[in-house]
Amino acid sequence: MKTKINPSFGMIVAFIVVSVFSLSVVFQMIIYFLHHFTNIMLPWFTMSNMSEHQSVLGTSITIGFSLLFLRLVPLSLWKIYRTLQFRREMLAQIDNELTTTINTKYPNCNNKVIVIREANFKALTIGFFKPIIIISSQVLHDFNKQELESILLHEYHHVLMRDPLKKYIVDVMAEIVFFVPIMKRITGFYHAKAELLADRYAIQTMNTSEPLGFVILKLAKLHVTKTDSHILSQFTETTNNYRIRQILEPDGQIQIPIWKPRTVLISLATFSLNTLLFISCVSSSFLLHKFLF
Ligand SMILES: [Zn+2]
Repeated sequence: MKTKINPSFGMIVAFIVVSVFSLSVVFQMIIYFLHHFTNIMLPWFTMSNMSEHQSVLGTSITIGFSLLFLRLVPLSLWKIYRTLQFRREMLAQIDNELTTTINTKYPNCNNKVIVIREANFKALTIGFFKPIIIISSQVLHDFNKQELESILLHEYHHVLMRDPLKKYIVDVMAEIVFFVPIMKRITGFYHAKAELLADRYAIQTMNTSEPLGFVILKLAKLHVTKTDSHILSQFTETTNNYRIRQILEPDGQIQIPIWKPRTVLISLATFSLNTLLFISCVSSSFLLHKFLF
């Protein structure tokens, strides 16, 4: 049995870039907040507390930023709640007999598969710390033994990599830096690469890309698309072009473009503005501080 395929250098960099940017924004938010609404002094703060004489514009910007930032808390919690609820709903439809049969037939999946009674295509990995694979009984009807194995191996790689948890972290981080559009493209790159790795794992374990290729084509024909936005890794993520290319050339490197001049320019502008506001907040000698804060 093949062990998991390690993430590429590009994936690691993408993860780090999104994390560093969003954590720096979180840090900035905290400073904005301290600066405008509290009397707390930090040794490296060059200004005195400004709460008595800050401008309307400065206060509005701070409140706006705080609200945008705070909306992330209920949003992230809601995502977790919906995912747990979805998992409960899925598990309520479990078919014990089919679950035992499939786990015996495909021991490579380490008893991680749950089969549910459902007449639609469903193949996904769900769970933060102990992810499981859920497939619908329809999958067993629509696909032959080899095709089913390729689906299960793809999902099993998501289990090995704890992809639902990583997906959640990356998505929340990207939400924090929503005003820097390049981050959305970087997270898109990260998700696409995770799908390609899972496919590669299935191809290498089975020593053929044919069954997986048929699965992807069949699903495209059946118009099976992503249906919800819970924290899970679904078989039908939106990367079919790249997936097909990898199937045709399993040894080739798939390039996923990130840079787009317009996106880069907008990102540079918004991030610079953010940094400018931050610097002017921390340093009272900075020109903008007079006007904004
Ligand atoms: Zn997947």
